[in-house]
Amino acid sequence: MSYQAFARDDLGFTTRQLHAGYDPGEHYRSKAVPIYQTAAFELGDYDRCLRLFEYAEEGHSYVRFSNPTNEVLEKRMASLENGAAAVSFGSGMAAISSTLLNLLGQGDEIIAVKTLYGGSTKLFENTFPAYGITTKFVEDESNIEDYEKLITDRTKVIYVEALGNPGMNVIDLEAVGELAHAHGIPVVIDNTFATPYLFRPLEHGADIVCYSATKYLAGHGTVIAGVVVEKGYFDYLSGRFPQFESYYRENVNFIGAETLRREMFTKRLRAQFLTDLGGHMSPQTAFYVLQGLETLSLRMERHVENAQKIAEYLDGHEKVKEVNYPGLPSSPYYELGKKYFPKGPGAILGVRIKGGLEAALAVLEKVQIFDYMVNVGDAKSLIVHPASSTHYGHPADEQEAAGVYPDTLRLSVGIEDAEDLIADLAQALG
Ligand code: PLP
Repeated sequence: MSYQAFARDDLGFTTRQLHAGYDPGEHYRSKAVPIYQTAAFELGDYDRCLRLFEYAEEGHSYVRFSNPTNEVLEKRMASLENGAAAVSFGSGMAAISSTLLNLLGQGDEIIAVKTLYGGSTKLFENTFPAYGITTKFVEDESNIEDYEKLITDRTKVIYVEALGNPGMNVIDLEAVGELAHAHGIPVVIDNTFATPYLFRPLEHGADIVCYSATKYLAGHGTVIAGVVVEKGYFDYLSGRFPQFESYYRENVNFIGAETLRREMFTKRLRAQFLTDLGGHMSPQTAFYVLQGLETLSLRMERHVENAQKIAEYLDGHEKVKEVNYPGLPSSPYYELGKKYFPKGPGAILGVRIKGGLEAALAVLEKVQIFDYMVNVGDAKSLIVHPASSTHYGHPADEQEAAGVYPDTLRLSVGIEDAEDLIADLAQALG
């Protein structure tokens, strides 16, 4: 038996999405990744128990902390991102909130753009301030000086999304990375809309990637899930992060200096925030995400192909005021889109309908294949009115900064036959 594909980082993306991180030899040679449906694992003996709790030995004790099914998903995601390590969470928001709590404490500051997913903006504006964590929003996310002037000694992270929602704006991510690193600050990118197939943030200035795996990674609208991937070797001992300095001192003798240099962020994320806040992903969910990952590249190819065709159809349609999609030469983000997303800039479109709210709602009512839902990244096509759902309750100026107007519809283009989707939109636009 010479099967070794699970450990080979030299293999292509599509091969790794099927094989990375899972050695059947360690699981009774089951070809499918088994679902370890248990709450806890036998500790064995006293010495092993101590080693597990000192983190001196890799292994599983209690499922809130880790389990073998999730471990395969984490290794697979780390491989697909070319990162050092990953941690899975019960939702994208658990992944994002835990990531930030790992980086920030009372009195610390986030620098973020205004074009974020509404749930993340709410977390930053409504929840974190009560715990002494504040966010400074960048005035113009295309202007690097606007980031720089917000940096202080208390800045612990710059947080952006690979593709804005629903404006589909593209930021010059490498420039943001260079600025942040010159100040010893890590960059976190929410790459949910792009996936590691279309864009790998760790290769373009990010130190940490967050996902709502609910979307394209799982891919079929069946689970809520999140993943965090760390690039590794960021210098958390530079003086800016006292919490990592004490973590290092307390753990270096057990875990080892090299492992801590490589993946200190995820070690502490798991030990403190996954474990204490309890946002773990169930092994069942990890199994569904793994199944989704097996076809990620194939689905994404079809998603972007369909999105491009639909964007071109809608661009210039007499009932359409504006189409936000970086794959269109008319988009202000066309050049940056080509630079960062050579395989295609995702499959979400922001579309403004002529005739205001009423006209947009009429389209929502008439579509027959696109389904009216707040989700995105399903294999099936979805449509939503962001101002009354994903961005509901945000002040009008904030909505506009994110590309949300009363006449905006957001399309999540699925993998159906493109001509059926175009015909559906044609009849709905009338
Ligand atoms: N990030 C983005 C870009 C999202 O669109 C979403 C959800 O829509 C989230 C994060 C939150 O993920 P979840 O719903 O899995 O908690």
